[in-house]
Amino acid sequence: MNVLVLGAGQLARMMALASKPLNINVRAYDVGSERVVDPLSLSVDYGDLAQGILDADAITAEFEHIAHDVLAACEQSGKLFPSSQAIKTGGDRRLEKTLLAQAGVANAKHKIIANKFEFDEAIESLTLPLIMKSALAGYDGKGQWRLKDKSEAEAIWQEIKSFIEGDTSGRPQAIVVEQMVPFDREVSMVGVRSKTGQTLAYPLTENHHSKGVLSVSLAINEHQNLQAQATEAFDKIANALDYVGVLAIEFFQVGDSLLVNEIAPRVHNSGHWTQQGADTCQFENHIRAVCQLPLGSTELVRPTAMINILGTDSVPHSILEIPSVTLHWYGKGKRAGRKMGHINVCGSTRTELISRLTQLSTMLPNADFPDVNEYVSTL
Ligand code: ATP
Ligand code: MG
Repeated sequence: MNVLVLGAGQLARMMALASKPLNINVRAYDVGSERVVDPLSLSVDYGDLAQGILDADAITAEFEHIAHDVLAACEQSGKLFPSSQAIKTGGDRRLEKTLLAQAGVANAKHKIIANKFEFDEAIESLTLPLIMKSALAGYDGKGQWRLKDKSEAEAIWQEIKSFIEGDTSGRPQAIVVEQMVPFDREVSMVGVRSKTGQTLAYPLTENHHSKGVLSVSLAINEHQNLQAQATEAFDKIANALDYVGVLAIEFFQVGDSLLVNEIAPRVHNSGHWTQQGADTCQFENHIRAVCQLPLGSTELVRPTAMINILGTDSVPHSILEIPSVTLHWYGKGKRAGRKMGHINVCGSTRTELISRLTQLSTMLPNADFPDVNEYVSTL
């Protein structure tokens, strides 16, 4: 079987690695060169999009900001999973908010604005502090503004105005103005849904961010109440989208309650720990779902954490001396802040995991892994 992935980054690469043992070949459509390539070498050329669609048994995506004409061409073949509607919803915060309302899932109080009048009105009607996010083309905290005090409104509006005017998507841009949630922590759920409607969720993951980018994820399976809330939200959202494949949901935990932050219609960085910590990893389960194979168990097999490698192409090799440490490089060129790889670390108990994480974090250079050490010491 052949699966075509829209996007040729690390997520396509890890889907390819997970698919080989199943005798499934993953090819990747590079949206930059508009060619279908091998996701590992990025060098073999399998032709253009039309050829890639023809050769594929199933088509899926590794990111949500895909040109709508590309999605339409894939959908027309009847092979695209999840649907273009699901992918577009993940790429437009307006559609996402509408979906959450329709599915009846709690999220932060917000207004959608596109001009100064609506901007002023949102500031008056919502409770400060506020976070403002571009509806289209936001990722890793980009296209976001924070307003703590009304005195900042004019300056922020000027920035938003030039951001909207500089938009090149060809689609009407807007801003979601959201109340800041005083969260205790950020967690996410990765789950999978089959074409027949079966859903399976992985244990919740606790996520620590550094400068708006995911830094450490830790699988947590000791909070049954939170797990049940997240699973309910997952089922509502996945069913509302008639979703096929892996879907991720980011939440804010406030006390014992969860509020949805955003969804990602794809495999997700906060699910990379599943490669070593779950019965079936998120990449294999996504491929199984889109190829209509039985889903694999999402059970946690051992406590696991993941550390992102950002902006550097080397780590001390001695970290591999620690038992149950696995290194995953993406084979990408070095650039400041870029996701270059990740490290998974497991323990047979939580105590053993924390001890290995602590050892690992002291071996990683602080300059490349700012505040990992500090975060790990809080666990
Ligand atoms: P990523 O691609 O890394 O997930 P993103 O650009 O899609 O990020 P969000 O996840 O919406 O954007 O926001 C980035 C971070 O900003 C969140 O992980 C959270 O720490 C903070 N944040 C976003 N919205 C809120 C909110 N309403 N209240 C408090 N913090 C928020
Ligand atoms: Mg996010």
